[in-house]
Amino acid sequence: MAENNKACILIVDDERINIKALSALLCDDYRIKIALSGRKALEIADSFSAPDLILLDVMMPEMDGYEVCKVIKNTKSTCHIPIIFITGKVDEEDETRGLNLGAVDYITKPFRPAIVSARVKTQIKVKQQSDLLAEMSYLDGLTDNHNRRSFDETLEIEWQSSLRYKRPLSLLMMDIDCFKQYNDFYGHQQGDSCLQSVASCLKNSIMRSTDHIARYGGEEFCVILPETGHESACDFAEKLREKVDAMHINHASSNCVDHITLSIGVATDVPTEGKTAKSLICSADAFLYQAKASGRNKVAFERPVIDGQ
Ligand SMILES: [Mg+2]
Repeated sequence: MAENNKACILIVDDERINIKALSALLCDDYRIKIALSGRKALEIADSFSAPDLILLDVMMPEMDGYEVCKVIKNTKSTCHIPIIFITGKVDEEDETRGLNLGAVDYITKPFRPAIVSARVKTQIKVKQQSDLLAEMSYLDGLTDNHNRRSFDETLEIEWQSSLRYKRPLSLLMMDIDCFKQYNDFYGHQQGDSCLQSVASCLKNSIMRSTDHIARYGGEEFCVILPETGHESACDFAEKLREKVDAMHINHASSNCVDHITLSIGVATDVPTEGKTAKSLICSADAFLYQAKASGRNKVAFERPVIDGQ
């Protein structure tokens, strides 16, 4: 398996000899990170490339394993990471305490390599399945794009981040023109396949990893464009409109032209205290309405005020 596709395990122990033994046992199948203290473990757990599993020693100076476990389980960004305690303490009471703090398993030292391997393998499998489920809950089943839930959460995060750094945030709201007529004329199955084609065209047009496209509902899609000013957002919207226009998906009953087209509303704002992300949605939605009202297959946006005009 390619190194990057391997699950990542964080081994936390204040004694290097234990880290060495566990690393040697697991390094062929997993990527290994190590921490010699509780503080370092918390730092790694909360980093961008968080581990998939933590093997946590209980007896450590300054901050013991129980304390580390408590912080990890009470922190939103890390609480999903499973923890296995590895410890010399063999009391039933200690084991219960560890499990009550949210650890998924408890292995006693001196550990038997085959047992550690098997238990690690089981927990990694559970973690991968739960990651997959979490990912699926943010996807739209029909188009494989992000869904409304994902859109709502991402817009809120980007709004807060734009507020903090005083940066512009743009939003495109788009709608397939005369889609009801398309469904009525061609049937819902072809309607679904049209949605899939348009969604995939839009998705493939997203070039920056920070831009977020989602199916807003029905035949509506949105793109969140962080750190993007008004002009660039309008240019990008026009590019998307042109791409879908160029697909030439027949639409014999359209009021607009003889193929599938998009109307797009563009809104840009630099968030300020007191405003919410809803204002951006309202504005983009109003321009989408304007694009439709003025003939469809158009991008509508707020025109900048120019002196003397
Ligand atoms: Mg120790």
